[in-house]
Amino acid sequence: MKNIDFSKLARPNIRSLKPYEAKEIPCKVKLDANESPYCIDTAPDKKILQRLNRYPDPEAKELKKTSSKNLKIKPDNILMGNGSDELIYYLITTFGGPVLYPVPTFSMYGIISQALGEKNIGIPLNKDFDLDIDKMLAAIKKYNPKLIFLSSPNNPTGNCFSAESILKIIEASKGIVVVDEAYQPFSSEKGFLPLLKDYKNLAILRTLSKTGFASLRVGFLIADEGLINEVNKVRLPFNLNSVSQSMALEAFKNKDVIESQIKNITSERERLFEELSKINNVSPYPSEANFILFKTKNANAVYQRLIKQGVLVRNIGSVIKDSLRVTIGTPEENELFLKALKKSVGGKNEKG
Ligand code: PMP
Repeated sequence: MKNIDFSKLARPNIRSLKPYEAKEIPCKVKLDANESPYCIDTAPDKKILQRLNRYPDPEAKELKKTSSKNLKIKPDNILMGNGSDELIYYLITTFGGPVLYPVPTFSMYGIISQALGEKNIGIPLNKDFDLDIDKMLAAIKKYNPKLIFLSSPNNPTGNCFSAESILKIIEASKGIVVVDEAYQPFSSEKGFLPLLKDYKNLAILRTLSKTGFASLRVGFLIADEGLINEVNKVRLPFNLNSVSQSMALEAFKNKDVIESQIKNITSERERLFEELSKINNVSPYPSEANFILFKTKNANAVYQRLIKQGVLVRNIGSVIKDSLRVTIGTPEENELFLKALKKSVGGKNEKG
């Protein structure tokens, strides 16, 4: 059969696109993907499993009602997606570009913009990893972006952006400002949901992925009803499968358990930060999320040495030099990570 070079058949913007990197490296301690280390011991309703021959509720009505109560947001202001990734896809499909975001940030804003052939503009964060407000405002003026994505807390840096700068951006933008609050449950700041009523061009993303349900793929877009109606036009039918709908309802029923798990994670984060600060050649950045970014000498070698000891973290070196990102695990996992890291950074490990 004749050989086909499919990359030549693909649209030019796809040809140069690199897929999202989600490496499956088997490791005993998995701290690379910002998942929760805790799992709720519950199963989907048996009735759901007996009806897998049927399409799911296309509107996920029950889940929408429950989410609405929990988020204290009217159902008409919520659109649910197969993970917030899907909602990012829908937002860019609906409104197009230019798409503006600070860098480094969550890579999917850029990947999806490019996949859809939309112009994307990345504005470097300042040295504290906060928004460079002058550069952001200048870019808004120059490009008049249809969409601005602000991940706060930001992945992979872990900090929240200055609320004052975010407000300035919302006020300056003639397009939509999406505050991606995937990590909001771990943050000490109150987030932007309370401001929705004041700003029509503000949209917020939330997800169940970081608090124990990454496998379900359930994300929320929360915004003005008019915006939700436009985005709903591009939503694929039945985008939330019935098992996920049912299990997401379980997630809301177990709210108290999840809240106490979040408390464990944030207190472990503070402990891990202290411990990382004590290790020679390791400099952690403060975090408001369920992970910590840290700089270390020879990060690529350290990353490989950690894998050899059964600990998987994320190598961020291609976007922030000599940096690794570690997800907060259980206390036991964090101990194994610290032990392995101390061995991996080489030489005299402990300061003092
Ligand atoms: N936004 C940010 C900032 C993220 O870090 C992630 C996950 N890495 C997502 C969105 C996507 O989350 P979901 O699992 O809901 O698609």
